[in-house]
Amino acid sequence: MQDITKYDIVNNENEADVIVVNSCTVTNSADSNLKYYLSKVKNKKILLTGCAAHSIGDMLFKENKVFGVFGHSEKEKIDTLLEKNERFYEIGDLNFVNEKIVTNIKDRSRAFIKIQEGCDFECAYCIIPAVRGHARSMSENKIIEQITLLANNGFSEFILTGINMGSYGKDTNTSLAKLLKKIFKINGVKRVRLGSLEPSQIDDEFIDILDNPLLERHLHIALQYADDRMLRIMKRRNRVQSTLELFEKLADKGFALGTDYIVGHPGESAEIFESGLENLKKFPLTHIHLFRYSKRDGTKSAKLTQDVVGDIAKKRHKIIDELIKEKNYNFRLHKKPLKVLVENQKNGYFEGYDEYFNKMIIKSDLDLTHQWIDISEYEVKKENNFCKF
Ligand code: SF4
Repeated sequence: MQDITKYDIVNNENEADVIVVNSCTVTNSADSNLKYYLSKVKNKKILLTGCAAHSIGDMLFKENKVFGVFGHSEKEKIDTLLEKNERFYEIGDLNFVNEKIVTNIKDRSRAFIKIQEGCDFECAYCIIPAVRGHARSMSENKIIEQITLLANNGFSEFILTGINMGSYGKDTNTSLAKLLKKIFKINGVKRVRLGSLEPSQIDDEFIDILDNPLLERHLHIALQYADDRMLRIMKRRNRVQSTLELFEKLADKGFALGTDYIVGHPGESAEIFESGLENLKKFPLTHIHLFRYSKRDGTKSAKLTQDVVGDIAKKRHKIIDELIKEKNYNFRLHKKPLKVLVENQKNGYFEGYDEYFNKMIIKSDLDLTHQWIDISEYEVKKENNFCKF
């Protein structure tokens, strides 16, 4: 194996001999941006990896737009791939599981831990199952080993991630709840955050572990829309009423709740939008990842007639954005003592997130970087909380 440390990373592409593009392919515009980028960069050895390697890598390779293409499973071979003098196309196995333990650790506060890959759902607008493969879980032992190692090195907050995290363990005869119980027992773990969950995957076993204080008091559960007609068009598995009941149950337990929501999907008539909006108002939400629908070739939604023009989608986006900002503000007005993990310092102020995933801006003469601090006195501002420490 060659030594990758002999390469220097440069900030300016003009100085680079080799450019590795780790691409996204989630929308058509992601593909267009990639193609535009490739057309601009001249006389460089370009290696393409990431999701677009799996969707349009073959085409770009045949058109000679890139020197080499390698899939997700081949990323660990990057040192040998960088050395290649002949063009190559090594797409690998889409359904592989990367179980490498990371030992080169620099930061000392929070770590992202991938526990799962791929997705077995078939949401109409989404290309992800085609470019990330079937749902598969990382081994529990490896995850525990990785977190233990990081906790021993000073990390205290762990963010579990995956494409469809709620499916964790379905293929290995375990579950997310069982995994979490083991993680809570690791010395040094002070807070566990979870990536996005699907409503249909939250079962009683999961609800039972929610009282553990090490779990962040914020969950992100993908609703995507709040009208059943649209959820059917989107080929989603969740329905409004049952998801609303779930959200109410979680809010009663004191959780801040975030969701994903798409506006402007084909079929979103004014009536459906209004109905979705009225339903959404009932949800005890505090955060939202709001998207304007963007057509993705190769998906079922791409075959539908786009009947929502851009300006209307923009207006709908704004209405929902303002609704959830207001909800978030009202949530924060109910003040309570907070535990904040300070991440960094920007423009003379420290920044970190509390257990409800709200940002705290902190003025202090101390060096608070990577510290856990308890805050009981703070000001609720429109966009975030503020305190002096
Ligand atoms: S669950 Fe998420 S990743 Fe899977 S198809 Fe639906 S939107 Fe895509």
